Amino acid sequence: MIVIINLDFTIKSTFMTIIRFCIELCIRNIVINILFYISIIIYLARALSKNYVARSIENQKFIRIQAKIVHRFQAFNKSLKDKQNKYLVCPECAQIIRVPRNKGKIEVRCPSCRKSFDAKS
Ligand SMILES: [Zn+2]
Repeated sequence: MIVIINLDFTIKSTFMTIIRFCIELCIRNIVINILFYISIIIYLARALSKNYVARSIENQKFIRIQAKIVHRFQAFNKSLKDKQNKYLVCPECAQIIRVPRNKGKIEVRCPSCRKSFDAKS
C-alpha cells in the first residue's frame, strides 16, 4: 500500500515538474510569448472577419488537408485488418479505395473523381 502511494506520488510529482517546466519555458521565452500573442490576434481577426467567401475557401483547404491525413491513417488501419484487400488513398480527392492484394502493379481509377494512378497491390 505504501509502495503504491509512493509510486503514485512520484508519478504526480514528475508530471507536475514537467508542467511547471513547460509553463516556465513559455513565460521566460519571449519569442514563444510573442508568437502566442500573434497567433491569438490572427485567430481573432479571422473569427471576426466578414469576408465569408475567403474564410470558406480557407476552411475547404483545411478540410481537404485534414481528410488526406485522416484517410491515410484509416486506409493503413484497414489494410492491417483486411488480409485479402489493400486500401489506397486517391491523391486527388483523398477517397479511400479498396483493391485486391497480390496483383502486382495495377492502375487504379478513383470512383469518386475518375482520376487514374498507378499503385502496388
Ligand atoms: Zn479521387
